[in-house]
Amino acid sequence: MYAVISDVHANLEALGAVLKDIEKRNVKGILFLGDAVGYGPDPNECVRLLKENCSVLLAGNHDWAVLGLTNVEYFNPVAKAAIRWTDENLAEKNRKIISGFSLVKLLKKESIFLVHSTPREPEEWHYLITLSDAEVNFRSFEQKVCLLGHSHSPFIVEKRSSGQMTVHKEKARLNKNSRYIINVGSVGQPRDGDPRACYALLNSEKIELIRVEYSIGETQRKMREAGLPEPLIQRLYYGM
Ligand code: ZN
Repeated sequence: MYAVISDVHANLEALGAVLKDIEKRNVKGILFLGDAVGYGPDPNECVRLLKENCSVLLAGNHDWAVLGLTNVEYFNPVAKAAIRWTDENLAEKNRKIISGFSLVKLLKKESIFLVHSTPREPEEWHYLITLSDAEVNFRSFEQKVCLLGHSHSPFIVEKRSSGQMTVHKEKARLNKNSRYIINVGSVGQPRDGDPRACYALLNSEKIELIRVEYSIGETQRKMREAGLPEPLIQRLYYGM
């Protein structure tokens, strides 16, 4: 079984709670799908913990932004302000760790494709939201399962061999002749209306989305102290 985490966004309390929950589960590896930094107050500690605990490390658009690899012109003003803050506060050794993150990864034996945004154009950072987005993207990878993040809203889409698509909530059994696109949600800034940290557990038979409570108040306190934008602080409470 693998644990799959994404979109930590420098939220140390959320990451700590998730790693503690994973410890109980007897997994053979933790796969990280990108966005270690941006928005939150603890980029250095989060990058260190991810490097220490994860067997796969992917880059997200915020990671690339802090490295200067992606144009932040399309970031909204508060996201841009958070990237500027992160850039000023990130230690050189952690910048180096982030520059080693990959854009995509393939687990051949398990037939799993991993990417932050979409398999179709990983470096364009598109969002995969609708079933027609899913339809297009199913053609862009060959494996049974594609794991991704980026939108901070978890979902499981199953495509049967007939072409019919089904959306599952929370968990699904992996059928032999189906393929899947799974968004594992966000550890550090959920946006599906549930403020708890989110991650996924996956083996060859099933996928399950797990929610974990963490001290949101503590993260918010640190964000205020750091002078990060107020809308980013508020949204953690609502999970939106
Ligand atoms: Zn993100």
